[in-house]
Amino acid sequence: MKIEIIKKQQSGLAKIDFNNLQFGDTFSDHMITMDYHDQCWKTPTIKPYGAFELFPGNCYLHYGQAVFEGLKAFKTPNGKINIFRPDAHYQRLNNSSQRLCIPKMDYDTFIKPLTQLLQIDSAWIPDKKGCSLYIRPVIFATDNFIGVKISDTYTYFVITSPVGAYYKGGLMPTRLTTSGEHVRTIKGILGEAKTPANYAASLLPQEIAKKNGFSQVLWLDGIEKQYIDEVGTANVFFLIGDELITPPLDGSILAGITRDSIITLAKDWGITVCERRISIDEVFESAKQNTLKEIFSTGTAVVISPVGEIEHNGKSIVINNNEIGHLSQRLYDEITAIQYGEKEDRFGWCLTI
Ligand SMILES: *Cc1c(COP(=O)(O)O)cnc(C)c1O
Repeated sequence: MKIEIIKKQQSGLAKIDFNNLQFGDTFSDHMITMDYHDQCWKTPTIKPYGAFELFPGNCYLHYGQAVFEGLKAFKTPNGKINIFRPDAHYQRLNNSSQRLCIPKMDYDTFIKPLTQLLQIDSAWIPDKKGCSLYIRPVIFATDNFIGVKISDTYTYFVITSPVGAYYKGGLMPTRLTTSGEHVRTIKGILGEAKTPANYAASLLPQEIAKKNGFSQVLWLDGIEKQYIDEVGTANVFFLIGDELITPPLDGSILAGITRDSIITLAKDWGITVCERRISIDEVFESAKQNTLKEIFSTGTAVVISPVGEIEHNGKSIVINNNEIGHLSQRLYDEITAIQYGEKEDRFGWCLTI
């Protein structure tokens, strides 16, 4: 496969303070770009991180036809690079593309330029435990046309960003609130696709939650406003009694790859995992009965984020004394050990380069 490479003259690496990385404000030297027209993906280019030129008539800007992914690369103790579950992220990118009428790409087109980019920018992958290189692939429509239709042309790009531990003080429990007024999605809309519109829908309710002192919104289903969908932009798990419960992939939630990794690990450890609908009333009732042990949300950026408190309709519950639970910590330790190549990758999750 042909990949065009244009190297940056002078690396920006020297200006970066690797001990004070924020999430998402620093970009590595290079990016991948690749165009789609005349019904096929063209030669990918690796070139210096830089701006795009867009026409004001760019149809993505008007109608939002785009999809994205978020995955991570890690430095292992012997200096290799682990990409965590790239095949699963590739598959989900194509699933999202299908929902947004965006052309698919084959696995080689996804993985070959990506591994090359990581090799070129390998010095940008932090080697400190807790730090990693966040990888953001995006596809957006580029027709210069403002009638509503499926675009004939697209741009795919991948940028990468060195990131520190999501939470500086360790795994801090979060405070969640349900939203009385807003919903994130309803089965049949875009909830199961990783697409910008879902994030646009979440901004106002998230802002209201923040103003009221909460860190995230606990999303309830859009129809009955009873069943739990997700937390912010992450999936959610409940340890009630000895059962680990998570909402099913029924069309309104995103099929998180961290979610899948956690289900796989928990089952492997002999824990009963139930993918089933769970209502906010059941969660509050289990807190009352003292059977609610842990709640945590999951996503690539945070891995696992324990939930310390939930408010719903003026009532609130505190979970596990507002401390991280045993299972949350054990899952976090196991997943990160596999990602950093410290533990045997017994599920074949990492692509090592
Ligand atoms: C990306 C995302 C997740 C988490 O998925 P991971 O593959 O675990 O990173 C969960 N919910 C939403 C809405 C997302 O966009």
